[in-house]
Amino acid sequence: DRPVSQAATAKPDHDGTSIPAGGPPRAHPDIDEILVSRDEIAAKIAELAARVDADYAGREILLVGVLKGAVMVMADLSRALSVPITMEFMAVSSYGSTTSSSGVVRILKDLDRSIEGQDVLVVEDIIDSGLTLSWLLRNLRSRGPASLEVLALFRKPEAITVDVDVRYVGFDIPSAFVVGYGLDYAEHYRTLPFVGTLTPEAIARRA
Ligand code: 5GP
Repeated sequence: DRPVSQAATAKPDHDGTSIPAGGPPRAHPDIDEILVSRDEIAAKIAELAARVDADYAGREILLVGVLKGAVMVMADLSRALSVPITMEFMAVSSYGSTTSSSGVVRILKDLDRSIEGQDVLVVEDIIDSGLTLSWLLRNLRSRGPASLEVLALFRKPEAITVDVDVRYVGFDIPSAFVVGYGLDYAEHYRTLPFVGTLTPEAIARRA
């Protein structure tokens, strides 16, 4: 057999680059290693939803999604839950570099309504240092919710050093910079269905 022409069979991916048909299997040309697969994420969301359903039986939850990284978790978790929910979103930004957080947080978009007296579950993509979350929890607690808990799909070991009480954690992952399933690098890669590390070339290209 002759090798299949890559130009003829290349498929566009979510970032507009292309996935070559030949060569070693690679989930995406810019991804070095997949740390958590699409199937593992789906199974974990179902497992977390079952726990949340059991814990909040008979109550209604106000899910607070932290933009933009948590959009995928919000979309999948909210649809996997059986208890009634409403949703709100907040956008916060930490001053500092793109890949680490300084703990100085600014509200870019606030909640649209009061959370006083409500059972609030903050939905986070990833906890790295935990500084963003600890600031956010202090801020939300001052608004008088009936309860305030956190669900984070990913957590890095460093987060353990900061005193943040996260009730639901999906995966503990190594301290590498990851993208996919909502997580970006320079606003790209959010739509990848898995979570993985970038190749040095991909990091350099958008630096
Ligand atoms: P922390 O304040 O816990 O250090 O950082 C939390 C925020 O930093 C997360 O909500 C996320 O937006 C961003 N972040 C932390 N680690 C990563 C990572 O590995 N990849 C991406 N894309 N964002 C991250």
